[in-house]
Amino acid sequence: MKGIKKRNVLWVFCIIAATILISYLENNLSPSNETSLPLFSKQTETMEVHFIDVGQGDSIYIKADGHSMLIDAGEKSEGTTVIHYLEALGVDNLDYIICTHPHSDHIGGMNSVLDSFSVNQIIMPEVNHTTDTYEDLLQAIGDHNLTITKAVPGNQYALGPASFTILSPVSDFYEDVNNYSVGIKLSYYNNSFILTGDAEALAEKEMLNEDMDLTGDVLKLGHHGSSYSSCSEFLDAVSPSYAVISVGKDNTYGHPHHETIEALVERGIPIYRTDEQGTIIFQCDGDTVSVHNEN
Ligand SMILES: [Zn+2]
Repeated sequence: MKGIKKRNVLWVFCIIAATILISYLENNLSPSNETSLPLFSKQTETMEVHFIDVGQGDSIYIKADGHSMLIDAGEKSEGTTVIHYLEALGVDNLDYIICTHPHSDHIGGMNSVLDSFSVNQIIMPEVNHTTDTYEDLLQAIGDHNLTITKAVPGNQYALGPASFTILSPVSDFYEDVNNYSVGIKLSYYNNSFILTGDAEALAEKEMLNEDMDLTGDVLKLGHHGSSYSSCSEFLDAVSPSYAVISVGKDNTYGHPHHETIEALVERGIPIYRTDEQGTIIFQCDGDTVSVHNEN
Protein backbone atom coordinates (compact mmCIF):
# COMPACT_ATOMS: atom_id res chain seq x y z
CA MET A 1 0.00 0.00 0.00
CA LYS A 2 2.84 2.35 0.96
CA GLY A 3 4.53 1.68 -2.44
CA ILE A 4 1.30 2.47 -4.34
CA LYS A 5 0.79 5.71 -2.34
CA LYS A 6 4.35 6.87 -3.11
CA ARG A 7 3.78 6.15 -6.83
CA ASN A 8 0.48 8.09 -6.71
CA VAL A 9 2.19 11.08 -5.08
CA LEU A 10 4.87 10.96 -7.78
CA TRP A 11 2.18 10.93 -10.53
CA VAL A 12 0.32 13.87 -8.96
CA PHE A 13 3.63 15.75 -8.74
CA CYS A 14 4.36 15.01 -12.43
CA ILE A 15 0.89 16.16 -13.50
CA ILE A 16 1.21 19.42 -11.51
CA ALA A 17 4.69 20.05 -12.96
CA ALA A 18 3.42 19.38 -16.51
CA THR A 19 0.43 21.71 -15.97
CA ILE A 20 2.73 24.49 -14.71
CA LEU A 21 5.07 23.96 -17.69
CA ILE A 22 2.20 24.06 -20.24
CA SER A 23 0.73 27.16 -18.66
CA TYR A 24 4.21 28.82 -18.71
CA LEU A 25 4.66 27.97 -22.39
CA GLU A 26 1.17 29.24 -23.29
CA ASN A 27 1.71 32.52 -21.45
CA ASN A 28 5.17 33.16 -22.80
CA LEU A 29 5.07 31.80 -26.35
CA SER A 30 1.54 32.62 -27.54
CA PRO A 31 1.79 36.39 -27.07
CA SER A 32 4.97 36.56 -29.15
CA ASN A 33 3.22 34.63 -31.94
CA GLU A 34 0.32 37.07 -31.81
CA THR A 35 2.50 40.19 -31.85
CA SER A 36 4.37 38.92 -34.90
CA LEU A 37 1.13 38.55 -36.92
CA PRO A 38 0.57 42.25 -37.78
CA LEU A 39 3.94 42.27 -39.59
CA PHE A 40 2.40 40.00 -42.20
CA SER A 41 -1.12 41.41 -42.17
CA LYS A 42 -2.62 43.76 -44.76
CA GLN A 43 -2.28 46.69 -42.35
CA THR A 44 1.33 47.21 -43.44
CA GLU A 45 0.23 47.66 -47.07
CA THR A 46 -2.25 49.92 -48.83
CA MET A 47 -3.67 50.29 -52.31
CA GLU A 48 -3.86 53.74 -53.86
CA VAL A 49 -5.99 54.74 -56.82
CA HIS A 50 -5.15 58.11 -58.40
CA PHE A 51 -7.60 59.75 -60.80
CA ILE A 52 -5.10 62.05 -62.50
CA ASP A 53 -6.45 65.39 -63.70
CA VAL A 54 -5.90 65.27 -67.48
CA GLY A 55 -8.70 67.68 -68.41
CA GLN A 56 -11.34 66.10 -70.65
CA GLY A 57 -10.13 62.49 -70.66
CA ASP A 58 -9.22 59.61 -68.36
CA SER A 59 -6.00 58.52 -66.67
CA ILE A 60 -6.02 56.30 -63.60
CA TYR A 61 -2.90 55.14 -61.76
CA ILE A 62 -3.08 52.23 -59.30
CA LYS A 63 -0.37 51.25 -56.83
CA ALA A 64 -0.42 48.18 -54.59
CA ASP A 65 2.64 47.13 -52.57
CA GLY A 66 5.22 48.24 -55.15
CA HIS A 67 3.14 47.05 -58.12
CA SER A 68 1.74 49.60 -60.57
CA MET A 69 -0.74 49.88 -63.37
CA LEU A 70 -2.10 52.66 -65.56
CA ILE A 71 -5.52 52.84 -67.20
CA ASP A 72 -5.54 55.36 -70.09
CA ALA A 73 -3.32 58.45 -70.44
CA GLY A 74 -5.56 61.32 -71.60
CA GLU A 75 -5.10 63.27 -74.85
CA LYS A 76 -1.69 63.41 -76.59
CA SER A 77 -1.08 66.84 -75.01
CA GLU A 78 -1.53 65.27 -71.53
CA GLY A 79 1.18 62.62 -72.04
CA THR A 80 3.78 64.71 -70.19
CA THR A 81 1.33 65.44 -67.35
CA VAL A 82 0.93 61.69 -66.78
CA ILE A 83 4.67 60.97 -67.13
CA HIS A 84 5.64 63.72 -64.65
CA TYR A 85 2.97 62.53 -62.22
CA LEU A 86 4.24 58.94 -62.31
CA GLU A 87 7.90 60.02 -62.12
CA ALA A 88 7.14 62.13 -59.03
CA LEU A 89 5.75 58.97 -57.41
CA GLY A 90 8.96 57.10 -58.25
CA VAL A 91 7.34 54.77 -60.79
CA ASP A 92 9.73 53.12 -63.24
CA ASN A 93 7.80 50.02 -64.25
CA LEU A 94 4.13 49.40 -64.97
CA ASP A 95 2.93 45.83 -64.46
CA TYR A 96 -0.08 46.55 -66.67
CA ILE A 97 -1.35 49.19 -69.01
CA ILE A 98 -5.00 49.16 -70.00
CA CYS A 99 -6.09 51.18 -73.03
CA THR A 100 -9.85 51.15 -72.52
CA HIS A 101 -10.78 52.08 -76.11
CA PRO A 102 -9.21 53.89 -79.09
CA HIS A 103 -10.55 57.43 -78.50
CA SER A 104 -7.84 60.09 -78.27
CA ASP A 105 -8.91 61.36 -74.80
CA HIS A 106 -7.93 57.92 -73.44
CA ILE A 107 -5.00 56.71 -75.56
CA GLY A 108 -3.52 59.98 -76.90
CA GLY A 109 -0.83 60.23 -74.22
CA MET A 110 -0.03 56.51 -74.12
CA ASN A 111 2.78 56.59 -76.76
CA SER A 112 4.87 58.87 -74.56
CA VAL A 113 4.10 56.71 -71.52
CA LEU A 114 5.35 53.62 -73.40
CA ASP A 115 8.54 55.53 -74.29
CA SER A 116 9.13 56.52 -70.64
CA PHE A 117 8.43 53.39 -68.55
CA SER A 118 8.99 49.67 -68.90
CA VAL A 119 5.69 47.82 -69.26
CA ASN A 120 5.01 44.14 -68.62
CA GLN A 121 1.59 43.69 -70.18
CA ILE A 122 -0.84 45.77 -72.23
CA ILE A 123 -4.55 44.95 -72.22
CA MET A 124 -6.91 46.33 -74.87
CA PRO A 125 -10.22 45.52 -76.55
CA GLU A 126 -10.15 43.96 -80.02
CA VAL A 127 -11.53 46.70 -82.23
CA ASN A 128 -11.01 47.96 -85.78
CA HIS A 129 -10.21 51.65 -85.67
CA THR A 130 -8.26 53.74 -88.15
CA THR A 131 -7.40 57.11 -86.61
CA ASP A 132 -3.80 58.36 -86.68
CA THR A 133 -3.73 58.37 -82.85
CA TYR A 134 -4.68 54.70 -82.75
CA GLU A 135 -2.22 53.78 -85.52
CA ASP A 136 0.53 55.61 -83.58
CA LEU A 137 -0.31 53.62 -80.45
CA LEU A 138 -0.16 50.29 -82.31
CA GLN A 139 3.18 51.38 -83.81
CA ALA A 140 4.57 52.26 -80.35
CA ILE A 141 3.40 48.91 -78.94
CA GLY A 142 5.26 47.15 -81.78
CA ASP A 143 8.37 49.31 -81.30
CA HIS A 144 8.52 48.26 -77.63
CA ASN A 145 8.07 44.57 -78.54
CA LEU A 146 4.86 44.33 -76.55
CA THR A 147 2.05 42.02 -77.54
CA ILE A 148 -1.55 43.02 -76.90
CA THR A 149 -3.57 40.93 -74.45
CA LYS A 150 -7.22 40.95 -75.54
CA ALA A 151 -9.63 41.98 -72.76
CA VAL A 152 -11.85 38.96 -72.07
CA PRO A 153 -14.60 39.24 -69.41
CA GLY A 154 -13.98 36.98 -66.43
CA ASN A 155 -10.17 36.97 -66.83
CA GLN A 156 -8.38 37.85 -63.59
CA TYR A 157 -4.97 39.42 -63.05
CA ALA A 158 -2.90 39.86 -59.88
CA LEU A 159 -1.38 43.23 -58.98
CA GLY A 160 0.68 42.39 -55.91
CA PRO A 161 -1.84 41.94 -53.09
CA ALA A 162 -4.60 43.48 -55.27
CA SER A 163 -6.30 41.95 -58.31
CA PHE A 164 -8.63 42.92 -61.08
CA THR A 165 -11.27 41.11 -63.13
CA ILE A 166 -12.22 42.10 -66.65
CA LEU A 167 -15.94 42.99 -66.87
CA SER A 168 -16.22 44.22 -70.45
CA PRO A 169 -16.47 44.38 -73.47
CA VAL A 170 -18.94 41.49 -73.38
CA SER A 171 -19.72 41.46 -77.14
CA ASP A 172 -17.43 41.33 -80.19
CA PHE A 173 -19.09 44.11 -82.16
CA TYR A 174 -20.58 47.51 -81.30
CA GLU A 175 -21.78 50.47 -83.39
CA ASP A 176 -20.31 52.90 -80.87
CA VAL A 177 -16.58 52.69 -80.08
CA ASN A 178 -17.29 53.74 -76.45
CA ASN A 179 -18.95 50.39 -75.81
CA TYR A 180 -15.74 48.50 -76.58
CA SER A 181 -14.34 50.03 -73.35
CA VAL A 182 -12.43 47.65 -71.13
CA GLY A 183 -14.23 47.66 -67.78
CA ILE A 184 -12.65 46.18 -64.66
CA LYS A 185 -13.45 45.43 -61.06
CA LEU A 186 -10.33 46.23 -59.04
CA SER A 187 -10.22 44.52 -55.63
CA TYR A 188 -8.02 44.86 -52.56
CA TYR A 189 -9.22 42.67 -49.68
CA ASN A 190 -12.70 44.12 -48.92
CA ASN A 191 -12.28 47.27 -51.05
CA SER A 192 -13.26 47.48 -54.71
CA PHE A 193 -13.47 49.90 -57.61
CA ILE A 194 -15.57 49.68 -60.76
CA LEU A 195 -13.80 51.37 -63.67
CA THR A 196 -15.53 51.19 -67.06
CA GLY A 197 -13.86 53.70 -69.42
CA ASP A 198 -16.53 55.25 -71.63
CA ALA A 199 -18.92 52.25 -71.56
CA GLU A 200 -22.50 53.40 -72.15
CA ALA A 201 -25.83 52.01 -70.95
CA LEU A 202 -25.85 49.24 -73.61
CA ALA A 203 -22.50 47.87 -72.35
CA GLU A 204 -23.55 48.39 -68.70
CA LYS A 205 -26.68 46.29 -69.29
CA GLU A 206 -24.56 43.55 -70.86
CA MET A 207 -22.39 43.51 -67.71
CA LEU A 208 -25.55 43.27 -65.59
CA ASN A 209 -26.77 40.32 -67.71
CA GLU A 210 -23.46 38.50 -67.20
CA ASP A 211 -24.38 38.08 -63.55
CA MET A 212 -20.98 39.34 -62.32
CA ASP A 213 -20.47 40.93 -58.91
CA LEU A 214 -20.52 44.62 -59.79
CA THR A 215 -20.58 46.02 -56.25
CA GLY A 216 -17.87 48.59 -55.57
CA ASP A 217 -16.87 51.18 -52.95
CA VAL A 218 -15.96 53.55 -55.76
CA LEU A 219 -17.45 53.94 -59.24
CA LYS A 220 -15.69 55.97 -61.90
CA LEU A 221 -18.67 57.06 -63.95
CA GLY A 222 -18.63 55.92 -67.55
CA HIS A 223 -17.98 58.47 -70.31
CA HIS A 224 -17.16 61.49 -68.12
CA GLY A 225 -20.60 61.62 -66.52
CA SER A 226 -22.56 61.49 -69.80
CA SER A 227 -26.27 60.69 -69.46
CA TYR A 228 -25.74 57.88 -72.02
CA SER A 229 -23.83 56.03 -69.26
CA SER A 230 -24.54 55.26 -65.59
CA CYS A 231 -28.05 53.87 -66.15
CA SER A 232 -30.06 53.48 -62.94
CA GLU A 233 -29.81 49.65 -62.89
CA PHE A 234 -26.01 49.88 -63.13
CA LEU A 235 -25.78 52.54 -60.39
CA ASP A 236 -27.97 50.37 -58.15
CA ALA A 237 -25.91 47.23 -58.84
CA VAL A 238 -22.59 48.96 -58.06
CA SER A 239 -24.12 50.87 -55.16
CA PRO A 240 -20.92 52.90 -54.59
CA SER A 241 -19.98 54.98 -51.56
CA TYR A 242 -18.12 57.41 -53.84
CA ALA A 243 -18.57 58.49 -57.46
CA VAL A 244 -15.68 59.91 -59.50
CA ILE A 245 -16.10 61.91 -62.70
CA SER A 246 -12.98 62.44 -64.80
CA VAL A 247 -13.90 65.50 -66.84
CA GLY A 248 -12.47 68.76 -68.27
CA LYS A 249 -13.56 72.26 -67.22
CA ASP A 250 -16.04 73.86 -69.64
CA ASN A 251 -15.89 70.92 -72.04
CA THR A 252 -17.92 71.20 -75.24
CA TYR A 253 -19.95 68.05 -74.49
CA GLY A 254 -21.63 69.52 -71.40
CA HIS A 255 -20.17 66.65 -69.29
CA PRO A 256 -21.14 65.73 -66.69
CA HIS A 257 -24.81 65.80 -67.71
CA HIS A 258 -27.29 67.05 -65.10
CA GLU A 259 -29.33 63.80 -65.32
CA THR A 260 -26.28 61.87 -64.09
CA ILE A 261 -25.60 64.31 -61.25
CA GLU A 262 -29.27 64.14 -60.20
CA ALA A 263 -29.21 60.32 -60.19
CA LEU A 264 -26.19 60.41 -57.82
CA VAL A 265 -27.70 63.08 -55.57
CA GLU A 266 -30.97 61.09 -55.36
CA ARG A 267 -28.97 58.11 -54.10
CA GLY A 268 -26.92 60.22 -51.68
CA ILE A 269 -23.61 59.27 -53.38
CA PRO A 270 -20.85 61.90 -52.87
CA ILE A 271 -19.34 63.12 -56.16
CA TYR A 272 -15.64 63.81 -56.80
CA ARG A 273 -14.80 65.63 -60.06
CA THR A 274 -11.37 66.23 -61.56
CA ASP A 275 -12.54 69.55 -63.12
CA GLU A 276 -13.36 70.90 -59.66
CA GLN A 277 -11.01 69.01 -57.35
CA GLY A 278 -8.01 68.25 -59.58
CA THR A 279 -6.33 64.88 -59.11
CA ILE A 280 -8.29 62.67 -56.70
CA ILE A 281 -6.54 59.99 -54.65
CA PHE A 282 -8.19 57.08 -52.87
CA GLN A 283 -6.32 55.15 -50.20
CA CYS A 284 -7.52 51.68 -49.16
CA ASP A 285 -6.42 49.58 -46.19
CA GLY A 286 -8.51 46.60 -47.22
CA ASP A 287 -11.46 47.56 -45.03
CA THR A 288 -11.93 51.30 -45.40
CA VAL A 289 -11.48 53.76 -48.25
CA SER A 290 -10.39 57.36 -47.70
CA VAL A 291 -10.18 60.12 -50.29
CA HIS A 292 -7.91 63.12 -50.79
CA ASN A 293 -7.86 65.74 -53.50
CA GLU A 294 -5.53 68.50 -54.67
CA ASN A 295 -7.84 71.50 -54.28
ZN1 LIG B 1 -13.67 59.63 -73.18
